[in-house]
Order: sequence, then structure tokens, then C-alpha cells
Amino acid sequence: MKQFAVIGNPISHSKSPEIHTAFAAQLMIELNYIKLLADEGQFATTAQAFFEHGIGANVTVPFKEEAMQFADTLSEDARLAGAVNTLAKKNGQIIGDNTDGIGLVRDIRDNHGYSLSDKRILIIGAGGAARGVILPIARETPASITIANRTHEKATLLAKQFNALTNITARPLTELNQPFDIIINATSTSLSGETLNLNPAIFHSAGLAYDMMYGNHPTAFMQLAEKYGTNAVDGLGMLVEQAAQSFQIWHGTRPETTGVIKKIRAQLKEPSKN
Ligand code: NDP
Repeated sequence: MKQFAVIGNPISHSKSPEIHTAFAAQLMIELNYIKLLADEGQFATTAQAFFEHGIGANVTVPFKEEAMQFADTLSEDARLAGAVNTLAKKNGQIIGDNTDGIGLVRDIRDNHGYSLSDKRILIIGAGGAARGVILPIARETPASITIANRTHEKATLLAKQFNALTNITARPLTELNQPFDIIINATSTSLSGETLNLNPAIFHSAGLAYDMMYGNHPTAFMQLAEKYGTNAVDGLGMLVEQAAQSFQIWHGTRPETTGVIKKIRAQLKEPSKN
């Protein structure tokens, strides 16, 4: 049977095996998808051993940069994201890709029905997740992308890196006061339940507030956006869509995602599983 895995630390919470198993059942493909816990400093050894027989692996926190070093060749998305979340073995070579940004765009555009074209986009955060979504968002030809981060220097660096590709600027988080159409929270604040201190003016004409984090109840960021009258969604669809893109890279065919998003959402709501 074809072997697949997700490698991370921690890894027990990962939904990737369930998502890929659901895609495979839908397309009648036989596969085995496991969780692999790698110790710090052991990513390459773990991945090397897996790829003796394995065909594809997803990579999650904290190994996405190490996975980039491990790959023999990189896609443009992975190179510009500076991180790899999908490894595929083809003709003896390990190819590194990053499907997080495509996953976000497909979820916003196709699942939630919000075009990014000609829109003023605000990305809050300048970590790995923010960096990984800039190129796929830029491909949708937005009017502008603004990056705002607690550590402003990191946002400035990101804007500099991508400004040849798109209309992108960095603004200090505390100075944000202009309206946006789509606001994306790419910080890890929702993990800790922290609320970002944001000027309400940024929500005045926003159609959508998107939190990359997901869970069994609306995040603090979603609650804030809803308080100011903005439709808010979480990042579960992004998770399933990035998995669908990895699945396509490995199997050459695209699974249907709507039913899988519903299935994982229902599981999140079961108290015994959280
Ligand atoms: P990183 O650790 O690389 O970056 C964290 C970011 O959050 C930084 O910009 C950091 O700012 C900011 N931050 C942390 N605490 C605060 C705070 N108290 N106030 C303001 N800003 C803060 O994380 P990632 O980029 O890898 O991940 C970010 C989020 O995206 C996570 O919640 C993750 O779960 C989610 N994610 C979801 C995916 C999905 O498929 N749905 C895929 C990938 C990520 P600073 O630079 O100042 O430290």
C-alpha cells in the first residue's frame, strides 16, 4: 500500500490522516497515512527513514524550514514562503512544495465566495503562515496588501521581499486606522485566546474577517470582527484545502472538499474529541 505521513512535534492533534483517508475513500485510492513524531533536530533522519518506502509527507510545526533544506528541489511557492509543508518523492527526487497559501485562497474564494481581486487585503502577523500566503494572494491581483505585525520590523522585511510582485506595504499594528475589504489574522494569538488590540475603523467596510486558527468555537479575533459587524470565519477550510492540494500533488487528482470540511467540523464539535 502507498505510504504517506505527517511529520511534526507535537503531532497527536493532527487531523491530516483523517482528511487524507476521507479523500482517498472518495476517490477509491488505497493508501496508508500515519502521524510521525520527530524529536528536535531529528527531522531529516525521520524523513529520510520514511522516504525509504514513503511517497509523500506533510510537514507541520516546527519543521517547515527544515523540510525546505531536506528537499532536492522547491516549487516557487515553497521558495518564496521559505517553508515546505508538502514533500513528494518523484523519480528518486524529493520535491518540496507549500500548499498553505493556495489552501487559504481556495477557502476564501471558492468556499466562502469572496473574490480577492481588486480588494484591499490586510494580513495581521508576519510569521511563517503570513509569509506563506502572500504569493498566492498576490496571484489573485488584489488592489493592495498591507502587512501589520507586533514586531513591525518583520512586517517591513516581508513587504520588501514581495514588493516586486505585488502592491504591498507594512504598517505598524498600532497605527492601523484605514478601512480594508478582507482582514486575515495570521498571528498565533487565537491559540492562547488573546485578543488583538485593533482599531474598529479597519472593520468598517470589511466583507470578511478570516482567522487562520480554527477550533470548536469562534476565536477571539472572530468575536471581535463580529462585534464590529464583519462576517468572520475560521481556518478549518484552509486546513482541508491545503490537504487537497497536497493530495493533488501526490495522486494527480483533486478531491471534493465540502463534505470533508463538514465532517471535520462535526468532529471538532464533539466534546469528547477536544
Ligand atoms: P509563527 O510563530 O511563525 O508567527 C506568529 C505570529 O503571531 C507572529 O507574527 C507574532 O508576532 C504574532 N503574535 C504572537 N503573539 C502575539 C500577540 N500577543 N500579539 C500580536 N501578535 C502576536 O506562527 P505561524 O505563522 O506558523 O502560525 C500563525 C497561525 O496560523 C497559528 O495560529 C497557526 O495555527 C495558523 N495556521 C493555520 C493553518 C491552517 O491550515 N488553517 C496553516 C498554518 C498556520 P511577532 O513577530 O511580534 O512575534
